[in-house]
Amino acid sequence: MQDVLRQLGVQADNAAYSTGRQWGGSANAERRTVLAPADGRPIASVAFATVEDYDTVVKTAQEAFKTWRLMPAPKRGEIVRQIGNKLREYKEPLGKLVSAEMGKILQEGLGEVQEMIDICDFAVGLSRQLHGLTMHSERPAHRMYEQYQPLGLVGIISAFNFPVAVWSWNAMLAAVCGDVSIWKPSEKTPLTAVAVQHIIKDVLAENDIPEGVFSIIIGGADIGAAMAADKRVPLVSATGSTRMGRKVGEVVGARLGRALLELGGNNAIIVTKNADLNIAIPAIVFGAVGTAGQRCTSTRRVIIEDSIYEEVKNRLLAIYPKLPIGHPLQEGTLVGPLIDGDAVKMFEEALTKVQAEGGKLLTGGQVLSGAKLQGGHYVQPALVEVENHYHTVQEETFAPILYLIKYSGDVEQAIALQNDVRQGLSSSIFTLNMREAEAFLAATGSDCGIANVNIGTSGAEIGGAFGGEKETGGGRESGSDAWKIYMRRQTNTINYSTELPLAQGIKFDV
Ligand code: NAD
Repeated sequence: MQDVLRQLGVQADNAAYSTGRQWGGSANAERRTVLAPADGRPIASVAFATVEDYDTVVKTAQEAFKTWRLMPAPKRGEIVRQIGNKLREYKEPLGKLVSAEMGKILQEGLGEVQEMIDICDFAVGLSRQLHGLTMHSERPAHRMYEQYQPLGLVGIISAFNFPVAVWSWNAMLAAVCGDVSIWKPSEKTPLTAVAVQHIIKDVLAENDIPEGVFSIIIGGADIGAAMAADKRVPLVSATGSTRMGRKVGEVVGARLGRALLELGGNNAIIVTKNADLNIAIPAIVFGAVGTAGQRCTSTRRVIIEDSIYEEVKNRLLAIYPKLPIGHPLQEGTLVGPLIDGDAVKMFEEALTKVQAEGGKLLTGGQVLSGAKLQGGHYVQPALVEVENHYHTVQEETFAPILYLIKYSGDVEQAIALQNDVRQGLSSSIFTLNMREAEAFLAATGSDCGIANVNIGTSGAEIGGAFGGEKETGGGRESGSDAWKIYMRRQTNTINYSTELPLAQGIKFDV
């Protein structure tokens, strides 16, 4: 790991903030050591920023915005293109550090960096497509159109489970839109953020980009809360738990700012009797145990038609005890550790509670130990038979617990169960029956931001808008027209006549 850290410019002890190339922080700042979830060993330490540091970063960003917004959008796209190329160069070490710091397996660490590269490519194209519409005015000799202008400072608060990709989804779009960004990564995964800042610094230097266009600030909830309350930050994009989103949403809302909230999910896969189980089963397993169940899109519930329930259950029961659990950097591992001891505790507590409510634990649920797992936070993924209304099933437990739920009757019954939770992120149906699939996608179908047919709930392509409804927060980021939230929209009407006709035929002779 020392090689990887050196290659990425991550020191044994890192500073608290950076406005681009420069790093800073007070000398007596609180320091925290990041421990690897795989074995509990220290990786490196970081300083935590103070609210005064935050103020310095904001002021620098405000200055930078004055010039960055004037750079033509395709030229800003060119900077993002170079950042994408740097990420290509550092994909291997950055993917390894993601894996070491967050605990996801190496393939997923590399996949996360690939997502960053992909969004850079997307943003480069977007930099030439920040289109508005033209409209026909109802008044003679008038022209009417809309345009999108840069918004200002974008605060990015990210969660531990996608420690770097969430930044790129936001920061790359914000950058081509003419905004400057300030990133507060999760306090559980600050090292990958430090690494990203080192990776992009050469691009900033080579292109003489002012300090403050891409800033990061290492800190906890207090820095995120300062950002939420700060009128100088017109848009706060916050990814994390619903608990956090509710607080951020309230504070940003109270000052009538914009909040882009990407919060928890409680994602279900419906399996009807018309499903191809050869693709449904791997989708369920990947969705439930991939990233050790720590994705916002992880599969939490499987809603199975009663005539195939036993078959689906037995096929899952044959796979679960044999899952290769181990060190995330070890080849062949499919399930790595949970992020920390608190996550293990939440896993255990959820299993205790759900059983007290009547749930039947079919397999898994143990906290694992042993020579190869020493110091790490490993658990055996659990399968539990439940009813959808159980309190524990209605909550998102960020761990590999999969709830099996039986339905009888037509697909509408399954859809009703799938929608009967407070969250609305990702959903899917496995069926080869066109009527069932279309019912799932209809206005009366899935109420989630993502609805898939014959694809699991976990993961998404960057080309589509990503996000969910209800307690998932309603925000959309990444592809499609998600860029519009990073800009201010302006309707312009130009009169090139010698008259002053008023709209709606109003006469006002003076
Ligand atoms: P978390 O809510 O504990 O922390 C997320 C971030 O919010 C951290 O940077 C944290 O410092 C900050 N924060 C916490 N309280 C805050 C406050 N009061 N004001 C401002 N900032 C505050 O979440 P986590 O444990 O890091 O991540 C797991 C959660 O994130 C899960 O619920 C998961 O579903 C969700 N998530 C959602 C998406 C999505 O796109 N919908 C993506 C990834 C993760």
